Amino acid sequence: MPLSFDTAAYLRTATGRAKSDVANKLVSMLLHHLSKEVSTLFGESITDTSYRSSVATHFGNLCAYCSHSLDFDRVAVEHLDGMNRFRLGLHVPGNVVVACKKCNGEKRRDDQQPTLVLANTGWESFLSHDSSRCGSGCKTCAYWMGVWPDIDQRRRALQSALTKLKGFREGYHVAINWMEQHRQSLSRSVEQLYRDGQSFAVMEIGKIVREVIKPQEANPAGGSLECPVA
Ligand SMILES: [Zn+2]
Ligand SMILES: [Zn+2]
Repeated sequence: MPLSFDTAAYLRTATGRAKSDVANKLVSMLLHHLSKEVSTLFGESITDTSYRSSVATHFGNLCAYCSHSLDFDRVAVEHLDGMNRFRLGLHVPGNVVVACKKCNGEKRRDDQQPTLVLANTGWESFLSHDSSRCGSGCKTCAYWMGVWPDIDQRRRALQSALTKLKGFREGYHVAINWMEQHRQSLSRSVEQLYRDGQSFAVMEIGKIVREVIKPQEANPAGGSLECPVA
């Protein structure tokens, strides 16, 4: 059986991932903080009873994407515009719905794309994988194919989810439009924060490591310190 997980490659990229994790965490903190301020600015918050009932009225107990019934242990709070450095979504009314964990996980592929080709937003892109524009290897197209094997039914269902979500977001267009207007400048600041976060992590970690490991203790061969063999 061929190995699908490349352990060596995973270990090789571990340092890079740690550096990105720090930077991504900073971006997430910024977006959460900004969400609080935006909620105050527009006097509407996710925690409002009126917002919760609006989501319930629009989607009932169904996933906002695939319309399947939600179960207690398979539900995720879903940000239509993902809260990351590419999508810059906020935790504010109009951007938060409820989805099944499967859709929530599958949508990450679109959310993590620096540039989207199928649509302008991550959620619209996710619902645009109707097998007509992607290559045969597209995992998201394959996901929707599994949900609705019949192509006509699939296209109708994806279109209906798009229409429903657009209608839902219309009710919160003030905050959403505000976000659109600030997207470009926020994107520049977030990219800067991301790069600064990475440089800070590398610099400070290097400094502390050099303080802990004195030059005379360093491996004379100049390589990294290795764990002694048990
Ligand atoms: Zn779903
Ligand atoms: Zn696709």
